[in-house]
Amino acid sequence: MRLSRYFLPILKENPREADIVSHRLMLRAGMIRQQGAGSFSWLPLGKRVLDKVCRIVREEQDRAGALEILMPTIQSADLWRESGRYDDYGKEMLRIKDRHERDMLFGPTNEEMVTEIFRSYVKSYKDLPLNLYHIQWKFRDEVRPRFGVMRSREFLMKDAYSFDLDYEGAKAAYNRMFVSYLRTFTRMGLQAIPMRADTGPIGGDLSHEFIILADTGESQVFCHRDYLSLPVPGADVDFANDGEIGGIVQRWTTPYAATEEMHDEAAWDAVPEADKVSARGIEVGHIFHFGEKYSKPMGAKVTGPDGKEHFVSMGSYGIGPSRLIAAIIEASHDENGIIWPESIAPFDIGLINMKVGDAECDRICAELYAAFEAAGKDVLYDDTDQRAGGKFATADLIGLPWQVIVGPRGAAAGEVELKNRKSGERVTLPVAEALGKLGVAA
Ligand code: ATP
Ligand code: MG
Repeated sequence: MRLSRYFLPILKENPREADIVSHRLMLRAGMIRQQGAGSFSWLPLGKRVLDKVCRIVREEQDRAGALEILMPTIQSADLWRESGRYDDYGKEMLRIKDRHERDMLFGPTNEEMVTEIFRSYVKSYKDLPLNLYHIQWKFRDEVRPRFGVMRSREFLMKDAYSFDLDYEGAKAAYNRMFVSYLRTFTRMGLQAIPMRADTGPIGGDLSHEFIILADTGESQVFCHRDYLSLPVPGADVDFANDGEIGGIVQRWTTPYAATEEMHDEAAWDAVPEADKVSARGIEVGHIFHFGEKYSKPMGAKVTGPDGKEHFVSMGSYGIGPSRLIAAIIEASHDENGIIWPESIAPFDIGLINMKVGDAECDRICAELYAAFEAAGKDVLYDDTDQRAGGKFATADLIGLPWQVIVGPRGAAAGEVELKNRKSGERVTLPVAEALGKLGVAA
């Protein structure tokens, strides 16, 4: 992509409405545009990151055996009357009437709808386990939308729903999602810690929030230092092996970890002083087993091996891709801007032509651009006539992992400069070697 043809509305000044660094940087880097309270448009740079985040989420859901569907945003109130939640949900639900005066709502979540799909088709335990997910916009009329896309009213959510014959099956499904989440967040360069969460009237211990440690987090959290170095399973983890998956969950739930709501002073006192991590945290995911809460009132049942009918045991599993992007920036930035992990960077490489119009600079940039494209690298080519200083500032602000800088002096000698955004390290190399260092054949 050529920057001269791109839409990257960079802000020079710090926007006054932004209280936290991720919100500030997302606005300054031209990733999002606020359209109203808690409502944002995703501009080209932001959209690219959102797509990359969703791709990782999707790959890890699929790997764990979940199947992607897509349900509507607008739902019928009658469906929610079946579960009793239409009256219970409160003011966070946006209630709408259609032209026939029928009560509708903009979905804050999809338990009822997915249960309706399930009960219409699945009748036998032989069709289980089943886990259906979608990535869809949600609306929650939050009391205090704030911090940009961190807590917005309209936001993207990946929500998965598992259906099993009994508690044992549901627990295995829960464990698969647990491990899938560990992999998902690690692939985005994040250290997410699963923390026991409140199960309310459902009871049991199958509810975890996945928390990123960050000073600007909304919750106070407590955990054992061991979490910062626990190994995350590789891509070869066998999701068909309940024992293996259960073992990983066991290891990841043994050291102490809890949010303020679930904090247990006695258990905390038992953690050695040097191992205590008490910090602020951002919730990026939440997994929850709720058994027959919806299957019973909505009549979602299957015939078991015993020939009898059983209400299915369910769980739901959420990740907020839009909030995740803010959380990643909170965890990875410096005074000059964003530092994207390679896996979700909007472009892999920023190619900077310091003197557009200089024959050698233009020629080398064209050559590099073609080589990057041919190698399947996403490259943003700054071919604008801005001053060099402005180009560097933009490149640092938008945080692409690598900058390739082509200036007239180097170009005359057939050399370019390579800068790693994360380490700040710069090296001057002949063109072919620079390509090699970025994994591209010259
Ligand atoms: P919170 O406690 O932060 O209000 P929640 O418990 O209501 O979140 P869930 O219903 O568990 O959230 O939703 C699953 C995921 O969706 C959350 O882990 C989070 O990543 C995301 N999410 C929830 N609410 C918002 C919001 N207002 N803005 C952006 N993302 C959100
Ligand atoms: Mg939650």
